[in-house]
Amino acid sequence: MRVFNFSAGPAMMPQEVLEQAQAELLDWQNTGMSVAEVSHRSKEFVACAAHTEELLRQIMGIGPDFKVLFIQGGAFGQFADVPLNLSKPGDVVDFVLTGQWGTKAFKEAKKFGVQATVVADEKSSNYTTTPAQGSIRPTPGSAYLHYTPNETIGGVEFGYVPETGDVPLVADLSSTILSRPIDVSKFGVIYAGTQKNMGPAGMAVVIVRDDLLDRARPDTPSIWNYRLMAENNSMLNTPPTFSIYLLGKILEWVDARGGLEGMEERNRTKAETLYSFVDSSGFYSNPVAHDSRSWMNVPFLMANSELNKQFVAEAAEAGLTNLAGHRSVGGMRASIYNAMPQAGVDALIDFMKEFERVHA
Ligand code: PMP
Repeated sequence: MRVFNFSAGPAMMPQEVLEQAQAELLDWQNTGMSVAEVSHRSKEFVACAAHTEELLRQIMGIGPDFKVLFIQGGAFGQFADVPLNLSKPGDVVDFVLTGQWGTKAFKEAKKFGVQATVVADEKSSNYTTTPAQGSIRPTPGSAYLHYTPNETIGGVEFGYVPETGDVPLVADLSSTILSRPIDVSKFGVIYAGTQKNMGPAGMAVVIVRDDLLDRARPDTPSIWNYRLMAENNSMLNTPPTFSIYLLGKILEWVDARGGLEGMEERNRTKAETLYSFVDSSGFYSNPVAHDSRSWMNVPFLMANSELNKQFVAEAAEAGLTNLAGHRSVGGMRASIYNAMPQAGVDALIDFMKEFERVHA
Protein backbone atom coordinates (compact mmCIF):
# COMPACT_ATOMS: atom_id res chain seq x y z
CA MET A 1 0.00 0.00 0.00
CA ARG A 2 1.35 3.45 -0.92
CA VAL A 3 1.43 5.88 1.99
CA PHE A 4 1.39 9.66 2.08
CA ASN A 5 5.08 10.24 2.77
CA PHE A 6 5.73 13.59 4.47
CA SER A 7 9.52 13.15 4.56
CA ALA A 8 11.73 16.19 4.03
CA GLY A 9 13.89 14.19 1.65
CA PRO A 10 14.37 11.78 0.04
CA ALA A 11 10.75 12.59 -0.50
CA MET A 12 7.57 11.36 -2.07
CA MET A 13 7.61 11.09 -5.85
CA PRO A 14 4.60 11.16 -8.18
CA GLN A 15 3.09 7.71 -8.48
CA GLU A 16 2.64 8.18 -12.24
CA VAL A 17 6.39 8.67 -12.59
CA LEU A 18 7.21 5.58 -10.55
CA GLU A 19 4.78 3.52 -12.60
CA GLN A 20 6.35 4.69 -15.85
CA ALA A 21 9.81 3.89 -14.55
CA GLN A 22 8.58 0.48 -13.43
CA ALA A 23 7.04 -0.25 -16.81
CA GLU A 24 10.30 0.37 -18.62
CA LEU A 25 12.72 -0.84 -15.99
CA LEU A 26 13.66 -4.09 -17.70
CA ASP A 27 13.71 -2.83 -21.25
CA TRP A 28 14.32 0.87 -21.76
CA GLN A 29 13.76 2.23 -25.27
CA ASN A 30 14.16 -1.21 -26.84
CA THR A 31 17.73 -1.50 -25.63
CA GLY A 32 16.93 -4.76 -23.82
CA MET A 33 18.43 -3.14 -20.72
CA SER A 34 17.37 -0.96 -17.84
CA VAL A 35 18.34 2.70 -18.12
CA ALA A 36 20.62 2.05 -15.14
CA GLU A 37 22.57 -0.49 -17.22
CA VAL A 38 23.04 1.62 -20.33
CA SER A 39 26.30 3.43 -21.15
CA HIS A 40 26.18 7.14 -20.40
CA ARG A 41 27.86 7.60 -23.81
CA SER A 42 25.16 5.68 -25.69
CA LYS A 43 23.01 7.70 -28.09
CA GLU A 44 19.93 6.78 -26.06
CA PHE A 45 21.30 8.12 -22.81
CA VAL A 46 22.88 11.22 -24.34
CA ALA A 47 19.45 12.04 -25.78
CA CYS A 48 17.80 11.34 -22.43
CA ALA A 49 20.11 13.76 -20.58
CA ALA A 50 19.61 16.41 -23.28
CA HIS A 51 15.84 15.99 -22.95
CA THR A 52 16.02 16.43 -19.16
CA GLU A 53 18.09 19.59 -19.54
CA GLU A 54 15.85 20.99 -22.27
CA LEU A 55 12.69 20.43 -20.23
CA LEU A 56 14.25 22.04 -17.16
CA ARG A 57 15.25 25.06 -19.26
CA GLN A 58 11.76 25.34 -20.68
CA ILE A 59 9.89 24.85 -17.39
CA MET A 60 12.08 27.20 -15.33
CA GLY A 61 12.58 29.71 -18.16
CA ILE A 62 16.37 29.41 -18.03
CA GLY A 63 17.94 31.79 -20.55
CA PRO A 64 20.70 30.92 -23.07
CA ASP A 65 23.24 32.79 -20.94
CA PHE A 66 23.03 30.08 -18.26
CA LYS A 67 24.51 26.58 -18.13
CA VAL A 68 22.61 23.70 -16.54
CA LEU A 69 24.86 21.17 -14.82
CA PHE A 70 24.22 17.82 -13.12
CA ILE A 71 26.83 17.49 -10.38
CA GLN A 72 27.37 14.76 -7.80
CA GLY A 73 27.77 15.47 -4.12
CA GLY A 74 24.30 16.83 -3.44
CA ALA A 75 23.61 20.32 -2.18
CA PHE A 76 26.14 19.92 0.61
CA GLY A 77 28.79 19.45 -2.05
CA GLN A 78 27.77 22.82 -3.46
CA PHE A 79 28.46 24.46 -0.10
CA ALA A 80 32.15 23.87 -0.99
CA ASP A 81 31.81 24.04 -4.76
CA VAL A 82 30.41 27.57 -4.83
CA PRO A 83 33.41 29.15 -3.04
CA LEU A 84 35.80 27.05 -5.15
CA ASN A 85 34.20 28.22 -8.38
CA LEU A 86 33.33 31.82 -7.55
CA SER A 87 35.94 33.14 -5.13
CA LYS A 88 39.66 33.46 -4.50
CA PRO A 89 41.25 33.11 -1.07
CA GLY A 90 40.89 36.42 0.74
CA ASP A 91 37.73 37.47 -1.12
CA VAL A 92 34.75 38.70 0.83
CA VAL A 93 31.71 36.44 0.37
CA ASP A 94 28.37 37.38 1.90
CA PHE A 95 25.83 35.20 3.65
CA VAL A 96 22.24 35.70 4.70
CA LEU A 97 21.31 33.27 7.47
CA THR A 98 17.71 32.22 7.99
CA GLY A 99 18.31 28.77 9.42
CA GLN A 100 20.48 25.73 9.69
CA TRP A 101 21.27 24.99 6.04
CA GLY A 102 22.48 28.49 5.30
CA THR A 103 24.57 28.33 8.45
CA LYS A 104 26.13 25.06 7.29
CA ALA A 105 26.90 26.62 3.90
CA PHE A 106 28.53 29.56 5.68
CA LYS A 107 30.70 27.27 7.83
CA GLU A 108 31.76 25.23 4.82
CA ALA A 109 32.73 28.35 2.83
CA LYS A 110 34.94 29.49 5.70
CA LYS A 111 37.19 26.46 5.07
CA PHE A 112 38.25 27.97 1.76
CA GLY A 113 40.14 31.02 3.01
CA VAL A 114 37.45 33.56 2.19
CA GLN A 115 36.27 36.38 4.42
CA ALA A 116 32.82 34.93 4.95
CA THR A 117 30.64 37.79 6.13
CA VAL A 118 27.15 37.55 7.58
CA VAL A 119 25.15 40.47 6.19
CA ALA A 120 21.84 39.40 7.75
CA ASP A 121 21.15 36.86 10.47
CA GLU A 122 17.64 36.05 11.72
CA LYS A 123 18.96 34.29 14.81
CA SER A 124 17.25 36.70 17.19
CA SER A 125 13.86 35.36 16.07
CA ASN A 126 15.16 31.81 16.53
CA TYR A 127 15.06 31.57 12.72
CA THR A 128 11.34 32.09 12.32
CA THR A 129 11.61 35.15 10.06
CA THR A 130 13.21 36.43 6.85
CA PRO A 131 14.90 39.84 6.58
CA ALA A 132 12.63 42.71 5.49
CA GLN A 133 12.62 43.23 1.75
CA GLY A 134 15.18 45.87 0.81
CA SER A 135 17.21 45.40 4.01
CA ILE A 136 19.87 43.05 2.59
CA ARG A 137 22.99 45.02 1.63
CA PRO A 138 25.88 43.10 0.09
CA THR A 139 29.42 44.14 0.98
CA PRO A 140 30.78 46.23 -1.92
CA GLY A 141 33.13 44.04 -3.96
CA SER A 142 31.83 40.81 -2.47
CA ALA A 143 32.43 37.77 -4.74
CA TYR A 144 28.83 36.65 -4.21
CA LEU A 145 25.93 36.69 -1.78
CA HIS A 146 24.53 33.33 -0.67
CA TYR A 147 21.10 32.72 0.79
CA THR A 148 18.66 29.86 1.31
CA PRO A 149 15.25 30.71 -0.20
CA ASN A 150 13.63 27.86 1.73
CA GLU A 151 15.04 26.53 5.00
CA THR A 152 13.88 22.93 5.11
CA ILE A 153 14.26 22.40 8.86
CA GLY A 154 12.68 25.59 10.19
CA GLY A 155 10.09 25.85 7.41
CA VAL A 156 11.11 29.43 6.60
CA GLU A 157 10.77 30.71 3.04
CA PHE A 158 11.53 34.05 1.40
CA GLY A 159 8.57 35.71 -0.27
CA TYR A 160 10.90 37.75 -2.51
CA VAL A 161 14.27 37.57 -4.25
CA PRO A 162 16.88 39.87 -2.67
CA GLU A 163 18.32 42.65 -4.87
CA THR A 164 22.12 42.47 -4.80
CA GLY A 165 23.11 44.81 -7.64
CA ASP A 166 26.43 43.77 -9.18
CA VAL A 167 27.11 41.12 -6.55
CA PRO A 168 26.12 37.71 -7.97
CA LEU A 169 23.25 36.15 -6.06
CA VAL A 170 23.69 32.48 -5.14
CA ALA A 171 20.68 30.48 -3.97
CA ASP A 172 20.38 27.05 -2.37
CA LEU A 173 17.00 26.18 -3.84
CA SER A 174 17.09 22.54 -2.68
CA SER A 175 13.73 22.40 -0.97
CA THR A 176 11.70 24.78 -3.12
CA ILE A 177 12.93 24.42 -6.70
CA LEU A 178 10.07 23.76 -9.14
CA SER A 179 7.46 24.65 -6.50
CA ARG A 180 6.48 27.93 -8.18
CA PRO A 181 7.73 30.31 -10.89
CA ILE A 182 11.07 32.01 -10.33
CA ASP A 183 12.95 34.67 -12.31
CA VAL A 184 16.20 32.82 -13.01
CA SER A 185 17.76 35.92 -14.60
CA LYS A 186 18.12 37.50 -11.13
CA PHE A 187 20.61 34.84 -10.04
CA GLY A 188 24.28 34.11 -10.61
CA VAL A 189 24.04 30.52 -9.40
CA ILE A 190 21.08 28.39 -8.37
CA TYR A 191 21.74 24.94 -6.98
CA ALA A 192 19.51 22.25 -5.53
CA GLY A 193 19.86 18.71 -4.27
CA THR A 194 17.48 16.52 -6.24
CA GLN A 195 15.87 14.39 -3.53
CA LYS A 196 12.90 16.66 -2.79
CA ASN A 197 11.16 18.07 -5.86
CA MET A 198 13.40 16.51 -8.49
CA GLY A 199 13.47 12.79 -7.85
CA PRO A 200 15.92 10.46 -6.22
CA ALA A 201 19.03 11.52 -4.32
CA GLY A 202 22.39 11.46 -5.99
CA MET A 203 23.08 14.82 -7.52
CA ALA A 204 22.65 18.55 -7.47
CA VAL A 205 21.28 20.57 -10.34
CA VAL A 206 23.41 23.69 -10.79
CA ILE A 207 22.27 26.62 -12.95
CA VAL A 208 25.15 29.03 -13.48
CA ARG A 209 25.42 32.27 -15.43
CA ASP A 210 28.02 32.17 -18.19
CA ASP A 211 30.01 35.17 -16.99
CA LEU A 212 30.80 33.33 -13.74
CA LEU A 213 32.44 30.35 -15.43
CA ASP A 214 35.96 31.80 -15.48
CA ARG A 215 36.51 32.26 -11.79
CA ALA A 216 37.26 28.72 -10.59
CA ARG A 217 40.35 28.21 -8.51
CA PRO A 218 43.00 26.12 -10.30
CA ASP A 219 42.81 23.43 -7.62
CA THR A 220 39.05 22.92 -7.97
CA PRO A 221 38.41 19.20 -8.48
CA SER A 222 37.64 18.63 -12.18
CA ILE A 223 34.27 17.01 -11.58
CA TRP A 224 33.28 20.06 -9.56
CA ASN A 225 34.62 22.69 -11.95
CA TYR A 226 31.60 24.42 -13.47
CA ARG A 227 33.34 25.30 -16.74
CA LEU A 228 34.79 21.83 -17.25
CA MET A 229 31.45 20.24 -16.46
CA ALA A 230 29.67 22.62 -18.83
CA GLU A 231 32.13 21.85 -21.62
CA ASN A 232 31.53 18.14 -21.09
CA ASN A 233 27.72 18.27 -20.84
CA SER A 234 28.04 17.15 -17.19
CA MET A 235 29.67 13.93 -18.39
CA LEU A 236 33.30 14.49 -17.56
CA ASN A 237 32.93 11.27 -15.62
CA THR A 238 30.00 8.86 -15.28
CA PRO A 239 26.99 10.91 -14.20
CA PRO A 240 24.16 9.65 -11.95
CA THR A 241 22.27 8.30 -14.94
CA PHE A 242 19.21 7.03 -13.11
CA SER A 243 18.72 10.36 -11.33
CA ILE A 244 18.95 12.27 -14.62
CA TYR A 245 16.47 9.90 -16.25
CA LEU A 246 13.96 10.17 -13.40
CA LEU A 247 14.33 13.94 -13.24
CA GLY A 248 13.28 14.00 -16.89
CA LYS A 249 10.17 11.99 -16.05
CA ILE A 250 9.34 14.30 -13.16
CA LEU A 251 9.72 17.33 -15.40
CA GLU A 252 7.29 15.78 -17.87
CA TRP A 253 4.89 15.29 -14.98
CA VAL A 254 5.29 18.94 -13.94
CA ASP A 255 4.87 20.10 -17.53
CA ALA A 256 1.65 18.13 -17.96
CA ARG A 257 0.25 19.82 -14.85
CA GLY A 258 0.71 23.39 -16.01
CA GLY A 259 4.42 23.81 -15.34
CA LEU A 260 5.48 26.05 -12.47
CA GLU A 261 2.21 28.02 -12.55
CA GLY A 262 0.39 24.73 -12.11
CA MET A 263 2.68 23.76 -9.23
CA GLU A 264 2.19 27.18 -7.63
CA GLU A 265 -1.56 26.82 -7.67
CA ARG A 266 -1.40 23.32 -6.24
CA ASN A 267 1.19 24.16 -3.60
CA ARG A 268 -0.45 27.38 -2.48
CA THR A 269 -3.74 25.58 -1.88
CA LYS A 270 -2.06 22.76 0.06
CA ALA A 271 -0.06 25.15 2.23
CA GLU A 272 -3.02 27.44 2.88
CA THR A 273 -5.22 24.54 3.89
CA LEU A 274 -2.68 23.23 6.37
CA TYR A 275 -1.62 26.57 7.87
CA SER A 276 -5.17 27.80 8.25
CA PHE A 277 -6.11 24.61 10.07
CA VAL A 278 -3.06 24.91 12.37
CA ASP A 279 -3.79 28.60 13.05
CA SER A 280 -7.45 27.96 13.81
CA SER A 281 -6.60 25.19 16.25
CA GLY A 282 -5.73 25.92 19.84
CA PHE A 283 -3.97 22.56 20.00
CA TYR A 284 -1.34 22.90 17.26
CA SER A 285 0.86 25.87 16.45
CA ASN A 286 3.42 27.01 13.91
CA PRO A 287 6.10 29.43 15.11
CA VAL A 288 7.05 31.00 11.76
CA ALA A 289 6.12 34.60 10.84
CA HIS A 290 3.21 34.60 8.39
CA ASP A 291 5.14 36.27 5.55
CA SER A 292 7.97 33.74 5.86
CA ARG A 293 6.09 30.48 6.02
CA SER A 294 7.33 27.74 3.75
CA TRP A 295 5.01 26.19 1.18
CA MET A 296 7.08 23.03 1.27
CA ASN A 297 7.97 22.27 4.90
CA VAL A 298 5.39 22.93 7.60
CA PRO A 299 6.52 22.41 11.20
CA PHE A 300 3.81 22.21 13.84
CA LEU A 301 4.00 21.83 17.57
CA MET A 302 1.71 20.68 20.36
CA ALA A 303 1.83 22.35 23.78
CA ASN A 304 2.39 18.95 25.36
CA SER A 305 5.47 17.62 23.58
CA GLU A 306 5.10 14.29 25.35
CA LEU A 307 2.41 13.48 22.81
CA ASN A 308 4.79 13.84 19.85
CA LYS A 309 5.89 10.23 19.71
CA GLN A 310 2.36 8.97 19.90
CA PHE A 311 1.25 11.37 17.18
CA VAL A 312 3.98 10.24 14.82
CA ALA A 313 3.37 6.54 15.51
CA GLU A 314 -0.41 6.70 15.14
CA ALA A 315 -0.13 8.83 12.01
CA ALA A 316 2.19 6.25 10.48
CA GLU A 317 -0.35 3.54 11.24
CA ALA A 318 -2.90 5.63 9.39
CA GLY A 319 -0.62 5.78 6.35
CA LEU A 320 0.80 9.27 7.04
CA THR A 321 4.52 8.68 7.43
CA ASN A 322 7.69 10.56 8.38
CA LEU A 323 5.98 13.33 10.33
CA ALA A 324 8.57 13.61 13.12
CA GLY A 325 10.03 17.11 13.32
CA HIS A 326 13.74 17.68 12.96
CA ARG A 327 15.50 16.87 16.24
CA SER A 328 16.58 20.49 16.64
CA VAL A 329 13.04 21.91 16.32
CA GLY A 330 10.97 19.14 17.88
CA GLY A 331 7.28 18.67 17.27
CA MET A 332 6.21 17.52 13.84
CA ARG A 333 7.01 18.58 10.30
CA ALA A 334 4.95 17.88 7.21
CA SER A 335 6.93 18.24 4.00
CA ILE A 336 4.42 18.79 1.22
CA TYR A 337 6.51 18.92 -1.93
CA ASN A 338 5.08 18.92 -5.46
CA ALA A 339 4.26 15.22 -5.42
CA MET A 340 2.12 15.40 -2.28
CA PRO A 341 -1.50 15.59 -3.44
CA GLN A 342 -4.16 17.71 -1.77
CA ALA A 343 -5.69 14.41 -0.61
CA GLY A 344 -2.58 13.78 1.50
CA VAL A 345 -2.89 17.16 3.20
CA ASP A 346 -6.62 16.63 3.75
CA ALA A 347 -5.96 13.21 5.27
CA LEU A 348 -3.34 14.73 7.57
CA ILE A 349 -5.76 17.42 8.73
CA ASP A 350 -8.45 14.81 9.41
CA PHE A 351 -5.96 12.83 11.45
CA MET A 352 -4.87 15.96 13.36
CA LYS A 353 -8.49 16.80 14.18
CA GLU A 354 -9.12 13.33 15.54
CA PHE A 355 -5.88 13.33 17.54
CA GLU A 356 -6.84 16.69 19.01
CA ARG A 357 -10.34 15.44 19.87
CA VAL A 358 -8.87 12.52 21.83
CA HIS A 359 -6.04 14.40 23.56
CA ALA A 360 -7.13 18.03 23.99
N1 PMP B 1 20.30 22.62 1.64
C1 PMP B 1 19.04 22.44 2.02
C2 PMP B 1 18.09 23.60 2.02
C3 PMP B 1 18.61 21.15 2.39
O1 PMP B 1 17.34 20.95 2.77
C4 PMP B 1 19.52 20.07 2.36
C5 PMP B 1 19.12 18.67 2.71
N2 PMP B 1 17.98 18.47 3.40
C6 PMP B 1 20.84 20.33 1.98
C7 PMP B 1 21.19 21.61 1.61
C8 PMP B 1 21.85 19.24 1.94
O2 PMP B 1 21.59 18.53 0.79
P1 PMP B 1 22.24 17.13 0.39
O3 PMP B 1 21.84 16.17 1.44
O4 PMP B 1 21.67 16.91 -0.95
O5 PMP B 1 23.72 17.34 0.32
